[in-house]
Amino acid sequence: MQELTHFLNGAQTKGSSGRFDDVFNPATGEVQSKCPMASAAETTKAVEDAAAAQVAWGATNPQKRARVMMAMVGLMNRDMDKLAEALSREHGKTIPDAKGDLQRGLEVIEYCIGAPQMLKGEYTDDAGPGIDMYSMRQPVGVVAAIMPFNFPAMMPLWHVGPALACGNAVVLKPSERDPSVPLMLAELFVEAGLPAGVFQVVNGDKEAVDTLLDHDLIGGVSFVGSTPIAQYIYSRATANGKRAQCFGGAKNHLIVMPDADMDQAADALVGAGFGAAGERCMAISVAVPVGDETADRLIEKLVPRIEKLRVAPYTDGDDVDFGPVVTAASKEKIMGLIQSGVDQGARLVVDNRDFKLQGYENGFFVGPHLFDHVTPDMDIYKQEIFGPVLSTVRAGSYEEAMGLAMDHEYGNGTAIYTRDGDTARDFAHRINIGMIGINVPIPVPLAYHTFGGWKKSMFGDLNQHGPDSFKFYTRTKTVTARWPSGIKEGGEFNFKAMD
Ligand code: NAD
Repeated sequence: MQELTHFLNGAQTKGSSGRFDDVFNPATGEVQSKCPMASAAETTKAVEDAAAAQVAWGATNPQKRARVMMAMVGLMNRDMDKLAEALSREHGKTIPDAKGDLQRGLEVIEYCIGAPQMLKGEYTDDAGPGIDMYSMRQPVGVVAAIMPFNFPAMMPLWHVGPALACGNAVVLKPSERDPSVPLMLAELFVEAGLPAGVFQVVNGDKEAVDTLLDHDLIGGVSFVGSTPIAQYIYSRATANGKRAQCFGGAKNHLIVMPDADMDQAADALVGAGFGAAGERCMAISVAVPVGDETADRLIEKLVPRIEKLRVAPYTDGDDVDFGPVVTAASKEKIMGLIQSGVDQGARLVVDNRDFKLQGYENGFFVGPHLFDHVTPDMDIYKQEIFGPVLSTVRAGSYEEAMGLAMDHEYGNGTAIYTRDGDTARDFAHRINIGMIGINVPIPVPLAYHTFGGWKKSMFGDLNQHGPDSFKFYTRTKTVTARWPSGIKEGGEFNFKAMD
């Protein structure tokens, strides 16, 4: 049984708390390693060491810091296959999907190579007589990143990259479900030239997280995960005077207008609904066809596509559509919600409740499910299922369809399929959701834009990556300077306007 470590002060470090959590191979259901759960004392020491290391890193010029990012890009590309394999083994997603997870993280590291440009301050010459005013962006200090299981490479990289490029030290608390890739990334950063201690990986659970939230040396907290925990982290971090950005769960609707290309819409729904077993915060979990005729045509196109999906372990080759879900507890929750949908009167059009994979009977596989005639009062509509389950809610009109997405408590992403530019434009303009796709099912913005939802999908204001991340991970300091002709003019006692 492999014992995983923390990554502290530039080296793998064994846990000393005596507490461990099991890391499973979701395809077989077997425990493949033990992940150490850091104590409050271990976490505190990691923060203090990070604070000591940050001083020199923060004083390193931005171009030199950017060169570490440049080297990291090369190293990640060199190790892409190895990283993807480790990711799939713990998460369960297919190898091409694992590479997508790594690639989307890598793109943010590429973006961070431009940090010197992003960190340039502002300057006003002659703001007053003989007075200049300038603002600088300085690192926050030590920041914490508490990350979810579903993108074990992308999510940490979205935060660690910009935070480091801005001159901060980072303490990363990865998900205890799949901690290996974050540990490998920390090693690669050191190989890329990052000084020891600037990027600490502390594995753990609530004890480690609460220690980070309460520690005076932590200046900022980035969280990604489920909504109840996001809200908790946001409240506790901000009550302790820290800046915080906390990203939560989702229930993303895809609206299908009667004029949409129905094949395109069905392909999009299958990919976005079932890819990564539905374990994406940008997964489409609700299809909203407008009009019964559209709904019937859509269901007719969806069913054969869903029945053809190949659910298997990542080791079965690149034609696997999706793998198992992450844990037995996840599987149980998903199966419970599917049953609730049946009990509450939705029509289960594709029913895989008895799905079993020969040779992998103990794996956490869930077959694909399609519901029709789902209504907003049902649990499968209200809750984030985070599994391979697509719900269809039939809407009578465009306004009703948009109203469903508007009224839902989550507001991460949404999409509309239509050939009508006016409808698409109206939708994008009026909807109260953070990321919108127009004939694009998973509208994840690229590295140089920003990623973030609205409503209960996000607590805080600044988004992930792009220009927002450079704001989040720096503090503004503004200097008003005058070089007088000399002290001979005497003191000035009135509070003066600039004239
Ligand atoms: P989770 O909330 O269970 O865990 C996230 C992190 O919080 C983990 O590191 C975990 O150890 C920690 N944690 C869990 N319970 C805690 C507690 N009581 N106190 C302190 N820390 C705690 O989320 P998950 O299951 O790992 O991830 C899936 C969720 O993440 C989904 O809801 C998904 O929509 C969401 N997600 C959102 C985004 C986004 O950008 N909005 C991106 C990816 C995932």
